[in-house]
Amino acid sequence: MKVLVINCGSSSLKYQLIDSDSEAVLAKGLVERIGIEGSILTHRPAGKDKVEIKTPMEDHNIAVKLVIDALIDKDHGVISDLSEIGAVGHRVVHGGEKFNKAVLITPEVKKDIEELSALAPLHNPANLIGINACEQNMPGVPQAAIFDTAFHQTMPASSYMYGLPYEYYEKYKIRRYGFHGTSHDYVSARAAEILGKKREDLKIVVCHLGNGASISAVKNGKCVDTSMGLTPLEGLIMGTRSGDLDPAILSYVGEKEGLSAAEVNNVLNKKSGVFGLSGGVSSDFRDLNAAAADGNEKAKLALDTYYYRVAKYVAAYAVPLEGIDVIAFAAGVGENDPQVRAKVCEKLAFMGVKLDAAKNDMRGEEQIISADDSKVTVMVVPTNEELAIARQTIALL
Ligand code: AMP
Repeated sequence: MKVLVINCGSSSLKYQLIDSDSEAVLAKGLVERIGIEGSILTHRPAGKDKVEIKTPMEDHNIAVKLVIDALIDKDHGVISDLSEIGAVGHRVVHGGEKFNKAVLITPEVKKDIEELSALAPLHNPANLIGINACEQNMPGVPQAAIFDTAFHQTMPASSYMYGLPYEYYEKYKIRRYGFHGTSHDYVSARAAEILGKKREDLKIVVCHLGNGASISAVKNGKCVDTSMGLTPLEGLIMGTRSGDLDPAILSYVGEKEGLSAAEVNNVLNKKSGVFGLSGGVSSDFRDLNAAAADGNEKAKLALDTYYYRVAKYVAAYAVPLEGIDVIAFAAGVGENDPQVRAKVCEKLAFMGVKLDAAKNDMRGEEQIISADDSKVTVMVVPTNEELAIARQTIALL
């Protein structure tokens, strides 16, 4: 069966068409600037040249229709008929406490996703628009929702509660939810598979280090803690997001800079992280590494602070895990930056973590990178959220 995986943003739509038997990606692409001037669809069929389609796209409905047209086009298409798509899997960011696993979409599920928009105002409404657009363009094709938060729902209350008045949890559901769950699930399962062990027998720390970044502690196959919180702002220092800080900084900065709460929030999400800390050099580690190598002190500071925060989280997760068997690095930075892995592991030498420098000197491959005498197995496990979504969609059918 062919599964269309959709990741819908407020003005964008990413897609992959995956053959569930071979797990091959038949085509992938991105629609940008939906509802804005300059709409563009970049379609990449496997084994053929990419195609750019520039045409006005008033809304997501039109964007989905153009994606389908691209998939069945006689030149750059990869299927001959829409009926070949057996199911659609949608990435949905927030499933709240309601969803601890993927579900087939029904009118009730859509209502729940809409209600959960209060917790993810930038993401859930966009995800819902994508679901509706696919329903309209592919009537009768089963649609599934795969939630970013679902894998983390196994956390105990001691991991997910904040030290706030309890009534905020009751009234507003303020708690840690965690994100990147599909990736943490996939990477921890794949790490166990590569090691020829059962995930149920392992204590795994997954470091999903991309532009957004989070760490999770997976004990006996279940998430017991994760670094992102009510929103994807908590935890690690990210590309442009601050991660953990003293909450009193918010009102202090607001007062000093004359910013509203929403404006401070914007600074924490878009102007902070390694980008902000480096004095605006970049949120991209390739640029930061180059600047640091050129002697830029702020870039060096941003990188050192980043390494330290990652290592601190890994070590902290030895508490819920009661030890660590495996550390798995994933996502853009985790997969492609050997220096990040080396610097983080250097700080964890006290717990017997030891890298094999030659094995670590690579990008984007599934590989064990720890030395043979390391007490903890360190691995690179490239994440594949789209494949995980396709697999979960198929499992639901
Ligand atoms: P993601 O959000 O997982 O797509 O990760 C994107 C980030 O990965 C970029 O912003 C870069 O910081 C990082 N990245 C990608 N390629 C490399 C590379 N070759 N070396 C270092 N960092 C990289």
